[in-house]
Amino acid sequence: MTKVDASSRKALVLFSGGQDSTACLAWALERYAEVETIGFDYGQRHRIELECRQTVRAELARQFPQWAAKLGEDHVLDLALLGQISDTALTAERAIEMQANGLPNTFVPGRNLLFLTFAATLAYRRGASVLVGGMCETDYSGYPDCRDNTLKALQVALSLGLDAPMTLETPLMFITKAQTWAMTEQLGGAALNALIVEHTHTCYLGERGTLHAWGHGCGHCPACELRAKGYSEFIAAVAH
Ligand code: ZN
Repeated sequence: MTKVDASSRKALVLFSGGQDSTACLAWALERYAEVETIGFDYGQRHRIELECRQTVRAELARQFPQWAAKLGEDHVLDLALLGQISDTALTAERAIEMQANGLPNTFVPGRNLLFLTFAATLAYRRGASVLVGGMCETDYSGYPDCRDNTLKALQVALSLGLDAPMTLETPLMFITKAQTWAMTEQLGGAALNALIVEHTHTCYLGERGTLHAWGHGCGHCPACELRAKGYSEFIAAVAH
């Protein structure tokens, strides 16, 4: 059996318009022949990220001509039903806090399983055999559907269920937020990190507000804190 060269494959990137998925998109554009993007509208409070997606895609294409040629269609799926079957701080007007089970109440149970399964169905139809997602075990909130073993199991289930190989790539799985900034600097230099700072969205509360060194956001929700901490660690590491 001949080994399939990664550079000839088509990938579908789960792209939310945040820092992590933008890093994944750049990673995929560097690696694969063709790259499409998929986003999900599930009534999230930080809906602003759906608008940021278009800006980020346009800026990537404008500033990186070598990637523009590979960047294909964008798809947005309406997953309003996710708001119906979950009652969490991401979709309802509730404060973000830790629950008794140690998970933040932003946790939508099994969300990534659903996203990846919908993405796989679309990828199959679009002739893509790679799904790329920004799931991360390292310094995230311990979401069980972000764990590497969960995704390995899903990769097997999807490949069997579609009767076609479906590779799940998670380039951020074992790296820290600071290392994500280092990765994007390696992929697209200071220009890519500047693009990420200015145009991506991470804040859970959907605030754009002030432009901090690390990007826009309220500055005090868990997502903003994580992003700010990662950025300052990256800058400190570069300075040494
Ligand atoms: Zn915030």
